[in-house]
Amino acid sequence: MLIDLHSHTTASDGQLSPKELVNRAENRQVHMLAITDHDTVDGLLDAKKAITDNKLNLTLINGIEISTNWLNHEIHVIGVNIDPSSIALTSLITEQKEKRQARAIEMGLRLSKANIPNAYEGAKSLAGDGAITRAHFARYLIQIGVGSSNKKIFQHYLSKGNTGYVPHHWVNLDHAISIIHQAKGEAILAHPTHYNLSNKWIRSLLSSFKSLGGDAMEVAMGQQEPSKRLQLALWSNEYGLKASQGSDFHFVGQWRDLGKSLALPDITTPIWIKWPIFSQLTKSIG
Ligand code: AMP
Ligand code: MN
Ligand code: MN
Ligand code: MN
Repeated sequence: MLIDLHSHTTASDGQLSPKELVNRAENRQVHMLAITDHDTVDGLLDAKKAITDNKLNLTLINGIEISTNWLNHEIHVIGVNIDPSSIALTSLITEQKEKRQARAIEMGLRLSKANIPNAYEGAKSLAGDGAITRAHFARYLIQIGVGSSNKKIFQHYLSKGNTGYVPHHWVNLDHAISIIHQAKGEAILAHPTHYNLSNKWIRSLLSSFKSLGGDAMEVAMGQQEPSKRLQLALWSNEYGLKASQGSDFHFVGQWRDLGKSLALPDITTPIWIKWPIFSQLTKSIG
């Protein structure tokens, strides 16, 4: 059974609409898919509707990826099986949306001082009604020829210490975990190896995440060295966190795809193992 618990749509910085995303997931024979847009649940309704209308053989897990602050690091936390209408979650989303908006305007100002005008307007028009992210700025900067790849644009303009970087003010990690729990969901630490942290710091993060009530951590991601996956699996056991897997799909590219190259090492405890929906699916498809 193919399970993918991390993906994005046009509700944030993904390039497929919720409807296109669920269709692609079904085509790729994913059985269970979480949509986890950055600080928003806006894509979930359309995705659900597309599944029902087209009778897709796909179970949607309601999710979100929340940007948080931990000791001044930007750490992403995924909530799965959340109630999207939870009042606590809704008010957190409103707060984060305002922060994203203010940060985007400030990024535009900083970039214009560096002789790159209209970056806010360009990014905003790419984001449309969706949550505006640095990925939209990157796409705009590539469009106008400032750089040739996402990687370079982040390296030179958008990551910490660069011209277009604005210090973040995201919600604290402990608060995000508590809000996910109030919304009846489970909290997963996203991509622990993507924060530019040394192993010592990753361990410290895992230990904090666990002691703050975190439930699981991502162990299997697309595009990952087997030794790294195994290391994460060992850590998930050591820190008593369940294991999750997700592609972090944003667009159709050469390497990443929904459900692609995702499998948890046997030593882990998958986060979905006790989910009623998982037993039902196991019974129906084996
Ligand atoms: P934000 O949440 O607005 O800070 O935007 C973060 C998003 O930008 C991430 O979810 C990725 O999609 C993208 N991103 C961050 N860092 C990089 C990078 N080094 N290269 C490419 N994309 C990145
Ligand atoms: Mn993203
Ligand atoms: Mn992330
Ligand atoms: Mn993501």
